[in-house]
Amino acid sequence: MHEVVIIGSGCAGLTAAIYTARANLNPVILSGRMPLGLLTTTTVVENFPGFPEGIDGIELMQRLQKQAERFGAQLMYGAVEAVDLSGSPFKLTVDGKPMEARTIIIASGAGHRKLGLENEARLENKGVTYCATCDGALPIFRDKPLVVVGGGDSACEEASYLTRFGSKVYMVHRRDELRASRIMADRVLGNPKIEMVWNTEVTDILGETLVSGVRLRNNVTGGESTMDCAGVFIAIGHVPNTQVFRGQLAMDDHGYVQIASGASTAVPGVFVAGDCADSVYRQAITAAGMGCAAAIDCERYLAGLA
Ligand code: NAP
Repeated sequence: MHEVVIIGSGCAGLTAAIYTARANLNPVILSGRMPLGLLTTTTVVENFPGFPEGIDGIELMQRLQKQAERFGAQLMYGAVEAVDLSGSPFKLTVDGKPMEARTIIIASGAGHRKLGLENEARLENKGVTYCATCDGALPIFRDKPLVVVGGGDSACEEASYLTRFGSKVYMVHRRDELRASRIMADRVLGNPKIEMVWNTEVTDILGETLVSGVRLRNNVTGGESTMDCAGVFIAIGHVPNTQVFRGQLAMDDHGYVQIASGASTAVPGVFVAGDCADSVYRQAITAAGMGCAAAIDCERYLAGLA
């Protein structure tokens, strides 16, 4: 049995690992389906304290991993398929194999929200993508018009990045103002290669084997139109990765795990950190802070059992 199992290897999970490893609790970190978390899909992280010039998302996460491993944390590649939190030791199924834990820190993060269109699923990886950093440089997008959907920081980041590859980037947003932070919004609005398409929703994605365009609806005038494009980059937020805990932990209507106090859930010995429990801040640094808090609460809980 493991003293501490950390579910998730993003900012929250790896920070919890650094702290619990330094407390000699030999944590095991389960990587999840996206090892090192969502930040690996970003370009430069400009707002993580301590990096005045910014830092590449993958490099930041590799540094966190190295720091956790330096103190004895063990990163295991695998995804949790089932959990039983009805009593300690807690039981987990990881890629078909059983595992037991005295305590669990849930840092399972969040995944990309989808538009929910039939053709979105059919054309995924055929021009529909959720990550410009991962896919933007593909030949199918070179010198072609591209569409980014969304109006938050992610959409702005994607649109700015894609101007390197596409002939033109259309940013389709359902309202007439951006949700993004001022600095990100100003970059997009001041970029001559980006054209805003306000008050507009993507109602369909067109194309047989590859994306060839989108169908749009202006939600003020009701007008319908189509736009040619080779890529649709969807950046409309995230949904918490908490399905596996449903029915065992209290959650809000959107699936975010509810914190009972500090970083503790209502189940003694189960702690939570990062995007899976945070619908408000959702920053790398706040996830890291929550990971630290979860580790400290976990350590104190185990000390109380001794
Ligand atoms: P977000 O802030 O939740 O923005 C999601 C955007 O998608 C909103 O503009 C929203 O429209 C739109 N949207 C949501 N559902 C939609 C739907 N079904 N159809 C069409 N549009 C839809 O998500 P995010 O941009 O991924 O950012 C998440 C968090 O990460 C934020 O806290 C952000 O600050 C942070 N972040 C920071 C950076 C950075 O600082 N470098 C980079 C990326 C993300 P409405 O505006 O109308 O709601």
